[in-house]
Amino acid sequence: MNANERKARSILEDLNINKPPVPVELIAKKMGAKLTFEPFEGKDDISGMMFRDGEINIIGINSSHPNTRQRFSIAHEIGHLVLHKKKLFIDKVVKIDFRDTTSSMAIDKNEIAANAFAAELLMPRDFVQREIRREISKQNNVIGKEALIQKLSNTFDVSTQAMEYRLINLGFLVSN
Ligand SMILES: [Zn+2]
Repeated sequence: MNANERKARSILEDLNINKPPVPVELIAKKMGAKLTFEPFEGKDDISGMMFRDGEINIIGINSSHPNTRQRFSIAHEIGHLVLHKKKLFIDKVVKIDFRDTTSSMAIDKNEIAANAFAAELLMPRDFVQREIRREISKQNNVIGKEALIQKLSNTFDVSTQAMEYRLINLGFLVSN
């Protein structure tokens, strides 16, 4: 686990959050952020932003995006809030191919850090491991890959794409 992931983990522990789905809006508030939701009309490509000025921290989320996407954006912006000093981050939607390491998002080190933080916050390694075991045992030890991804993404309230990537990243699934 790297420092960004450890930070996410310690926030979950401090707030006694020990099962999915992780209450990401509550965490934002506990970390001192004011959350705002707006459709960002004409700026569909913006997923979220974080702005700070003195005591004020604002996380703005694009409310026209799917709920699971908004949850990931909130987690990502909390990452900027707790990991980084910069006053303003504006995050654009990247056509997410998580395996594409050449995209600008993936080479900016603040973005890599915020994404790693967000993944651990929303889909903590040990929660994922526990839920995989639970699903497998419920299904008499036989469950298809797609069914598993679907179940887990429901349980964690994340997109199937985010969950699939997380499972690959944690070594629970192999990438095709
Ligand atoms: Zn960002």
